[in-house]
Amino acid sequence: MKILLIGIQGSGKSTQGNFLSEKLNIPYLSTGHIFRELAKEKSIDGRFVKETINAGFLMPDNMTIKIVNDYLNRAVYKNGYILDGFPRTLVQAKSFNEKLDKAFYIKVSDKEALWRLAGRDEYREDETLKAIKKRIDLFHEVTLPILDFYKDLGILAEIDGERTIAEVSEQIYSHLN
Ligand code: AMP
Repeated sequence: MKILLIGIQGSGKSTQGNFLSEKLNIPYLSTGHIFRELAKEKSIDGRFVKETINAGFLMPDNMTIKIVNDYLNRAVYKNGYILDGFPRTLVQAKSFNEKLDKAFYIKVSDKEALWRLAGRDEYREDETLKAIKKRIDLFHEVTLPILDFYKDLGILAEIDGERTIAEVSEQIYSHLN
């Protein structure tokens, strides 16, 4: 099973992605996580990634597509995966050649997401208010158009992300049976 999770930061994608990964016994892959790891590297590339993600900007499509394809070629992803944070632009969606089973859009208002992120205990360098707002703006501008792309493929399901964690999971599972 190959599943995509789409949603703004704070929508609960990684929580739901990890649940799904456990339930379906397939790996979870987050491009945000990959980039945060790359940002730790003490090299010119590492520095570029760090500056880009900390500002809330998107990484270039060609670099992102190459990294994701390299990961997905690994044997562990052969039988499926839960993908969080990719594709995030129409260019990425169109160039991604994998046949996906389902794309979930976990819908949460900007206000609710900001509220949740403000209440998080852990500190992350890329979670300044400015970067979060930039990420949310970019989501509306460049990521929302991919919903129509997956709707046209007949694999999009919209999930009300403002319910409890358990209720959000239930909604997702109901589409998988
Ligand atoms: P996330 O944890 O998904 O919010 O991702 C953190 C940061 O990683 C984003 O703000 C982007 O800078 C970068 N990133 C993650 N996924 C992508 C993607 N598919 N395309 C471009 N940049 C990405």
